[in-house]
Amino acid sequence: RQLLTRIEQLDREFNSFITITAESALEQAEAADRCLAAGGAPALCGVPIAHKDIFCTRGVRTSCGSKMLDNFVPPYDARVVEQLQAAGTVSLGKTNMDEFAMGSSNETSFYGPVKNPWNPEHVPGGSSGGSAAAVAAQLVPGATATDTGGSIRQPAALTNTTGIKPTYGRVSRWGMVAFASSLDQGGPVARTAEDVAYLLAAMSGHDERDSTSLNRPVPDFAAGLNDDLAGLRIGVPKEYFGEGLDGDTASRVQDALKEYEKLGAKLVDISLPHTGLAVPAYYVIAPAEASANLSRFDGVRYGYRCENPADLRDLYMRSRGEGFGEEVKRRILVGTYALSAGYYDAYYNKAQQVRRLIKQDFVQAFEQVDVIMGPTAPHPAFRIGEKGDDPVAMYLEDIYTLSANLAGLPAMSLPCGLVNGLPVGLQIIGNYLDEGRMLNAAHRYQ
Ligand code: GLN
Repeated sequence: RQLLTRIEQLDREFNSFITITAESALEQAEAADRCLAAGGAPALCGVPIAHKDIFCTRGVRTSCGSKMLDNFVPPYDARVVEQLQAAGTVSLGKTNMDEFAMGSSNETSFYGPVKNPWNPEHVPGGSSGGSAAAVAAQLVPGATATDTGGSIRQPAALTNTTGIKPTYGRVSRWGMVAFASSLDQGGPVARTAEDVAYLLAAMSGHDERDSTSLNRPVPDFAAGLNDDLAGLRIGVPKEYFGEGLDGDTASRVQDALKEYEKLGAKLVDISLPHTGLAVPAYYVIAPAEASANLSRFDGVRYGYRCENPADLRDLYMRSRGEGFGEEVKRRILVGTYALSAGYYDAYYNKAQQVRRLIKQDFVQAFEQVDVIMGPTAPHPAFRIGEKGDDPVAMYLEDIYTLSANLAGLPAMSLPCGLVNGLPVGLQIIGNYLDEGRMLNAAHRYQ
């Protein structure tokens, strides 16, 4: 009740929720009370959370931040929603996001931009800006999010919260609206690495309904949080501290690295030579996959349908023309172009080859180091509207986050100080399935 009141009072300004499910939240909370009284309650019994509006929720609208799905009420829950429900959490609603998770500022949402609680004239990052802002404003202690190219980590960095994108395949994508299926991965945003560890444990695990789900045991992520960091080898890639990185942001990250040295870790200079190719490779692969995934929104099966279509072609054209926003259309056009006969080899195939090289950089780096650290984003939160009409400037926001998705590696962001009153994030990239070690490193710093 306290949080619902807080949401009612504060979220008119922040706009971090698209849908608030007050009634069912109170019912779930009462059930949690009964469960706690009876004993043997599940791990997260009664913990209030919110779900990014990309996760299907049975009987509750799932818009994905788009007019296209403004009227879509799924008949089933996403795997992640099922898991968190089984763990005892109470969902307060669905959080705002960039349309179809395409964006780095939450400005492409059909439901309007989210404001950064640290300064409402600034963006909270994206695409999981609603989840991050809701945690930062203490409207919920934790929320689900997704990360295709940084959408968990970058908003976490910009709002002083902690978020993790686990190893690709760790968290089921079943019931999560698809953007770029080979890159999409769900994960939690919360205040601390410890909270994130509990939420991630509940969200992880094999799911036969997702063909890319990993069939690996889920470790107790919270068990090793306090392990000693003595001897931890931290790789510091020189490409993450070059041109384009704001000086004050670099200083906060360097200060954090010094703290790690005090905790007994060893800094190792490394190189990830193909880092500069991550943005162009990603912005071919992600739109290519998106153009295929979004072809299902045709105005026939579900979602928005235009008024009075003249014929089938008119129905397709106007439903998609009216239902999708500008950024989504741009991605569909770029993706369709990159996949078309005659251009496929020059763009899509080439991008896949670059993807392999980026992955290879990490394989080599992890022969020398245990984790990699650097900035999550090149600077603190920018102003709402500042990059509105420059898609390439917006794409460059993702320069440090895209590589982990292209390689399928786990990566997280944690707060590491402020610049002019705005938060800066430290990024930790780990080896495959090594989330436990990353959370341990983050927890000891916090
Ligand atoms: N900002 C990136 C994009 O717009 C990443 C988004 C995401 O991770 N969902 O594609």
